[in-house]
Amino acid sequence: MTNYASEFLNESAEKAFDLDHRRIINYNIGKYDAAVERGLLKFSNLENSKRKAHVIKWKVMENLDKLLPEFEANFQRKGGKVIWANTAEEANAEILNIIKKAGAKSVIKSKSMVTEEIHLNEFLEGNHIETLESDLGEYIVQLLGQKPYHIVTPAMHLSKEDVAKLFNEKFGTPTDATPQQLTLKARELLREKYTSADVGITGGNFLIADTGSLALTENEGNARLTTTFPKIHIAVVGIEKIIPSMSDLDLFWPLLSTHGTGQNLTVYNTILGGPKQEGETDGPEEMYVILLDNGRTNLLAQKDQRQGLYCIRCGACLNACPVYKNIGGHTYESTYSGPIGSVITPHMQGMEDFKHLSFASSLCGKCSEVCPVKIDIHKMLLLNRRDSVEQGFVTKKEVYTWKGWKSGMMKRKMMDMLSGSWKNRLLKFLFRKSYGTNRAIPKVAPKSFSQTWKEENPEQ
Ligand code: SF4
Repeated sequence: MTNYASEFLNESAEKAFDLDHRRIINYNIGKYDAAVERGLLKFSNLENSKRKAHVIKWKVMENLDKLLPEFEANFQRKGGKVIWANTAEEANAEILNIIKKAGAKSVIKSKSMVTEEIHLNEFLEGNHIETLESDLGEYIVQLLGQKPYHIVTPAMHLSKEDVAKLFNEKFGTPTDATPQQLTLKARELLREKYTSADVGITGGNFLIADTGSLALTENEGNARLTTTFPKIHIAVVGIEKIIPSMSDLDLFWPLLSTHGTGQNLTVYNTILGGPKQEGETDGPEEMYVILLDNGRTNLLAQKDQRQGLYCIRCGACLNACPVYKNIGGHTYESTYSGPIGSVITPHMQGMEDFKHLSFASSLCGKCSEVCPVKIDIHKMLLLNRRDSVEQGFVTKKEVYTWKGWKSGMMKRKMMDMLSGSWKNRLLKFLFRKSYGTNRAIPKVAPKSFSQTWKEENPEQ
């Protein structure tokens, strides 16, 4: 059985001291920070926009039972088909079913975290369906056999030199190829795949209830090609992605783009309302939306933490997080990394295996500060910690340590019973493992404040 917590600790310790990793991440996040600072200036009242988005998302969660059927009815009216999937297995089985029924052999995909969540690529490859990522970042990590490092920029951990080296090994391009040359090479390789693939699979940034449409937002145009050429389009979308009305995009699109990349608006924004209609020349003959639960209703049932479902996956909290910036995205071993990943993963993949993520935070609050939908992320982390203790996922050693700590802190006599040097020995004994070898455990003063005070003020 995988011990996710100890793997997380080991990998964090390694990554935090990997200077190359730090250099690349600092460089890429530095560029992101500068772009976002400029982008946010375009909002006349950013705080109001964020509040409004928060309220809309709150309403959505309160009315999911009405909005999802509304989307379904409107989408079906235009010939689209909706499939409800409770789990990743159900979603994968339904996708395979559609592919097999059509006699399809190859799939082209555009970037989608939800298909990462259900491990769709591995599943399809295991069933002998050729699956190709068309987003450049995703394509790069697919070539490397890696998972996306970041929910918006999957190859953020790589420098341009790393990508040039990879393309040289795979396709023989020069080792000093520029980003433009590398992009052109990827384009050349991918172009013919759009026209030959039988099925296009995407995620979805928003589902619009009142029109029954799917909104996709991207910078490369690959999602448009993925949804236009193949005869079948399947969109896999989490149930929380619903928004009530088309007019809400007016708010959510700029919030997503500015917080995601600093752009005022992402380059390609597409609204798809179903398969090709009579008389239309473009679009797929069949279009499916798979509405995925996969643990989301567990989170919905947590009144205090359901805010985690408001997330529009902009990635801003990851880029702001001092922990993420040091340990990187792969260390989390979960589809959604960074602060929001730490909030939602324990509810979606199990508290016992993933509770440790909620403890991997300094609780500085920067994540909550930057979130465009005002999720109280650092508070949610505390609530997860509470839940994990209440559910009994805590070691005996920890329980006794805190009991001892509490009694010591409540009674002055007990607190002063040990000298400073004995306290230091005790701390070393208790925390030497969890503190690691790269930093020193803080030293307790030789005498407590109370002892020092009494010595210096004998008359009081
Ligand atoms: S929690 Fe907020 S900041 Fe983080 S990815 Fe989601 S919307 Fe963006």
